[in-house]
Amino acid sequence: MLMTTTSGSLPKPTWLAEPQKLWPAWRLRGSELAAGKLDATLLAIKLQEDAGIDTVTDGEQSRQHFVHGFLENIDGIDFDNRVEMGIRDNRYKAMVPTVKSELRLKGRVHGAEAQHARAHTKRKLRFTLPGPMTIVDTIADSFYGDRIKMAMAFAGLLNEEARALEADGVDVIQFDEPAFNVYMDAVKDWGVEALHRAIEGLSCTTTVHICYGYGIKANIDWKSSLGGEWRQYEQIFPALATSRIDQVSVECINSRVPTQLLSLLAGKDVVIGAIDVANDTVETPEQVAAVIAEALRFVPKEHLVVGTNCGMAPMRTDVAYAKLNALTAGTALARAAIAAY
Ligand code: ZN
Repeated sequence: MLMTTTSGSLPKPTWLAEPQKLWPAWRLRGSELAAGKLDATLLAIKLQEDAGIDTVTDGEQSRQHFVHGFLENIDGIDFDNRVEMGIRDNRYKAMVPTVKSELRLKGRVHGAEAQHARAHTKRKLRFTLPGPMTIVDTIADSFYGDRIKMAMAFAGLLNEEARALEADGVDVIQFDEPAFNVYMDAVKDWGVEALHRAIEGLSCTTTVHICYGYGIKANIDWKSSLGGEWRQYEQIFPALATSRIDQVSVECINSRVPTQLLSLLAGKDVVIGAIDVANDTVETPEQVAAVIAEALRFVPKEHLVVGTNCGMAPMRTDVAYAKLNALTAGTALARAAIAAY
């Protein structure tokens, strides 16, 4: 009951990559970089285990960025001639690569770190991949000529990698779809269908993570423009409730999402964000327990999982792990309260 997990990414050691950056430069090269990524993966798992996290991740120690870590292993993408594109409905401008020909996986994308993680932890293992809609919102196209067609092509590649991750022993595969909170109509039109293509044939648990973004300035400014109540989830939860995705991971603490919207996900596991990744103030266990208690008004305890609002990659290492300790301490308080009830 009330299993704990994280949204995926964790800070990287300073010997591996620049600290506190969303797009950090690697500090190792070639075979040293490959070995360093695996060492950092073990470190991230050990620190999550010590914090008492039930379902651990590889901390995304092997990728520079949550979307581009996947794209780098695909043929058909031109990374050399980047073009400027407004992404997330022009919330930020980014220099993005372009799809130039038929997309094909070059081979395994995350095999090395998934197998290494699996070999060294007995806990459940969650593994994250970018979702199809978020990918097509982060890349230019001069081949498919149609966003939905391109999303389905990426979904096919995600499915190939997801099946291989399941064979590696991964227990939960999570697709990150922050774009779902931006293009709500498209979620109903084709976003869920693209996710279904990505999870085809999987028997492990599947999750879609839909947040309001990392704690960077562009996102904080955007959030302050969204008004007193954030009701984006209200438009997409009904389509997710009838989907074949098992879990929906959402932002809760310090957000202006009305908690009762969680009741629209009846029948699904709900992974609530009980830790804020946009500030360095470590939550108290009581604060975490209060978020859980509020969520329990709308989600049955058998369906509630406790996690973080988003990934922690750009945070300070000491702060991130102190927050994971608060997450498990607060969840322990909530479990005790339920047992006493
Ligand atoms: Zn997120």
